[in-house]
Amino acid sequence: MDYKKILEDTDALIHGHFLLSSGLHSDSYIQCAKALKFPWYAEELGYGISVKISAYNPDCVVSPAIGGIIIGYEVSKHLNVPFLFAERTDDGTMRFRRDFDPSQFKRIAIVEDVITTGKSTKEVMELLHEYGAPTVCTASIANRGNLNEINGFPIKTLIELPLNNYKAEECPLCKDKVPLVKPGTRKFTIGL
Ligand SMILES: [Zn+2]
Repeated sequence: MDYKKILEDTDALIHGHFLLSSGLHSDSYIQCAKALKFPWYAEELGYGISVKISAYNPDCVVSPAIGGIIIGYEVSKHLNVPFLFAERTDDGTMRFRRDFDPSQFKRIAIVEDVITTGKSTKEVMELLHEYGAPTVCTASIANRGNLNEINGFPIKTLIELPLNNYKAEECPLCKDKVPLVKPGTRKFTIGL
């Protein structure tokens, strides 16, 4: 299965010149929701990840909301284990709501759509630790961070897509006068 092609065919992975929320410029951008809105692709991607992590024998899948919910659920479906999600509260901390209680689980797989810095995964891992629920692995559709592990746990990913990002003043796409796009807005910003 060509997972990268699924992302490209659905415009979940686009190539060009993008202004990221970090302020850096990049030559590609991923919005997994554009692929996951098709249940048959969500199914394929979830199956792919489940195959990669089944050897860890997870007894539960946990994802950070909102981006991880669809893919995490699809992975849990194929592994036939429960699925929980953690949410960022108003004070910015990651928490379980809805009476979700991960303390009964002993082998948790944390599943995200995209891992870039690993920050959300790390926060979920630390939250699980508070509940005494051990993580066994992490996984994502795409890994943009050149990371192999988070807190010593392996990252299993379908697509390795290291992020090429640049400061505006050093950006080769700016030098080539490629119009800069802010993803999600469809508007050109600067660089025209
Ligand atoms: Zn640029």
